[in-house]
Amino acid sequence: MAINGLLADALANLKPLMDDERISEDARRRLSQPNRVVEVEIPLRMDNGSLKVFTGWRSLYDNTRGPGKGGIRYHPSVTVDEVAALSFWMTVKCAVVDLPFGGAKGGICVDPKQLSRLELERLSRGYIRALLDVLGPDRDIPAPDVNTNETIMGWMADEYRQAAGRHQRAVITGKPPGHGGSLGRTAATGRGALQVLDIWERRQGRADQRPRVAVQGFGNAGFHFARLAHDAGYRVVAISDSRGAIHRDDGLDPLAIWDRKRESMHLSGGVYCQDSVCAEVEVDQLTNDELLALDVDILVLAALENAVTEKNVDSIRAPTVLEIANGPINHAADRMLTARGVDVIPDVLANSGGVIVSHLEWVQNRMGDYWSEKEIDRRLAERLGEQADLVFERAVTENEPLRSAAYRQGIERIAIAMDGLGTERYFCGDTGA
Ligand code: GLU
Repeated sequence: MAINGLLADALANLKPLMDDERISEDARRRLSQPNRVVEVEIPLRMDNGSLKVFTGWRSLYDNTRGPGKGGIRYHPSVTVDEVAALSFWMTVKCAVVDLPFGGAKGGICVDPKQLSRLELERLSRGYIRALLDVLGPDRDIPAPDVNTNETIMGWMADEYRQAAGRHQRAVITGKPPGHGGSLGRTAATGRGALQVLDIWERRQGRADQRPRVAVQGFGNAGFHFARLAHDAGYRVVAISDSRGAIHRDDGLDPLAIWDRKRESMHLSGGVYCQDSVCAEVEVDQLTNDELLALDVDILVLAALENAVTEKNVDSIRAPTVLEIANGPINHAADRMLTARGVDVIPDVLANSGGVIVSHLEWVQNRMGDYWSEKEIDRRLAERLGEQADLVFERAVTENEPLRSAAYRQGIERIAIAMDGLGTERYFCGDTGA
């Protein structure tokens, strides 16, 4: 496929690895485009009887290390380039944390807020029917992403079960409880991101300082991160959603804001309780751009890709940026932040908690036996702690930014798998003896 837009920008991260002799020429060539991108047209009967047709995609970037893995997003701006770029990031991410998966991603170009619940269910089932041949527990395994959730994963798994004529629970992760969903999956991306940040802060000798945090994006990952960070003693001073941001220097209570948002559909202060005293809390309203420019210790990007580009990068004042969204900083802006000495904890490590628990769900589905939430959290912490330490160590020993260290860790593992079946040097007679 033509390499354009977001995919071209994402692949720019491979450039610094070009002179790494641990990554063979063959592997570089194979990683420079997706294995397979399928486009489908999904007809949807609307509640009023009319028919609409929506375009969807599933991109399998690479499956050398295992079946494809990655979420499905519903958004009016989804394009084929975006889905392919997201599948590339999934490939790198799964390898960075050493999961036996390749990388994939799917999406439908739709504004789900314009659909009724029943229309959404029919569309979700239609997506699975259209892609039956490319999905499967050993082929390609979807999960939630932007604007999709466990109910939607439940519909999709149910549609797959009906088509297959038998339970195939490991075909999709992030399912509801009782349908093979794993405990701990919903909070896993936010929980994992906080763990990675904690490890980083400890390594910087800043563990007990109640850092001030601004969080852009208050979807599932941003909310759980903010809630857990607040509980762990971070001061969450600002939160935004797609409509705007709120700010309070003394700190916000993410759980109270979440509850209020569910009632009123917009961000506001909410009722905070301290000991037994509860009161309505006043907050300042900010724009999203003002949130990005706040003078905080840590800026958390948990919205969409390209939140920070060369146009607004100069306004960023935080010395540490945590990427919970996929690709929230474009390549040019990333280089500018790095040149300024800003520490960017990259998406392929920081948001990997979700797919790590997806892997645990897949394992439980295949075993037919289920772990407690405590056991899930323990396994998540163990894998992520080990892999984050490796990335942070590598950044020190190789004297390189965290993103390059993470990419090197992931791409080296993919290259080892690709080279295991023979490289150009091997087939040309050099046995390496
Ligand atoms: N959508 C999530 C991500 O971008 C999770 C993917 C998965 O669990 O497969 O990492």
